[in-house]
Formats: sequence, structure tokens, C-alpha cells
Amino acid sequence: MANEKTLSIIKPNSTLDNNIGNIISIFEKNGLRISAARFAKLSKEKAEGFYIEHKERPFFGELVTFMTSGPVMIMVLEGDNAVAKNRELMGATNPANAAPGTIRKLYAKSVGENSVHGSDSVTSAEREIAYFFEKNDVVNRF
Ligand code: GDP
Repeated sequence: MANEKTLSIIKPNSTLDNNIGNIISIFEKNGLRISAARFAKLSKEKAEGFYIEHKERPFFGELVTFMTSGPVMIMVLEGDNAVAKNRELMGATNPANAAPGTIRKLYAKSVGENSVHGSDSVTSAEREIAYFFEKNDVVNRF
């Protein structure tokens, strides 16, 4: 299996609900290791730039307002098939459709306030990691 890196963000609803530890625990129990981490409050510009591909979607404004409403925990996760593994652990975008035991089923409030972001491909992961971290911030774990 391929060792990969992916970008994970614990969104404001879950940092404010004190679920950072619970969510990281799910990653670690499932073979994903943290190889970089930053706790931050995103500026409007930084959040807009991150979600630029959604600029034309009707929920873009709401998404940026939510992502800047409280602190976020931004992490690089590393492991076998980390991109797909993280997406599987997150569950469907809308918690109503998320499988039992997934992070979104356990902790999300709504389709918008859905606890976690995870890169959707290896290419997106590389771009998203570079958006938040310098090369030297990321420590190889395998
Ligand atoms: P993801 O890859 O599962 O995060 O889903 P998307 O890439 O489709 O959407 C990005 C993020 O936009 C989601 O994680 C949600 O936080 C937000 N989002 C998606 N659909 C909606 C929606 O219908 N309403 C609102 N308010 N936010 C949404």
C-alpha cells in the first residue's frame, strides 16, 4: 500500500465542542499519524483562498463565515492510503448520510458545520499542505 500524506482540518464546531482529542484519537487508532500541526484562527482571506474552487457555490459565503468563526486545528496526516483512509473515517459531507462511527456522524452539526475537512486526492493534498505548511514543518513518520 502507498504511504501518503493528506491535509486534515478540525473545523470550528468541533474545536469549540472540545472534540479535538476525540477526533485525533480516531485518526491514531486507525493508523494515521500526525506529521505536522497548527492551531489557528483563519483570516477571511486565508479561508477564501483555501476554498477558492467553491467560489461559485451558493454556500461559499456561509462556508467562509463558519471557517473563520473559531479556531481550527490544521494537520498533515500520514499513513497507508492516507487520503482515502481519512475520507472514510470522516464520512459523508452531510452527517445525515454519514455511516455510523464516522467522525461526521459522531460530531457534525449539519452539512456546513461538519467537523472535518480532508483532501479529496493526492494532488489536492499536496496543494493544501503547501497552502498551510512550509516543507520543514512536515516530519516524515514512516
Ligand atoms: P467535502 O469534501 O466532504 O468537505 O465536501 P465539499 O468539497 O462538497 O464541500 C466543502 C465544504 O463545504 C463541506 O465540507 C461543507 O463544510 C461545506 N458545504 C458543502 N455543501 C454545503 C451546503 O449545502 N451548505 C453549506 N452551508 N455548506 C456546505
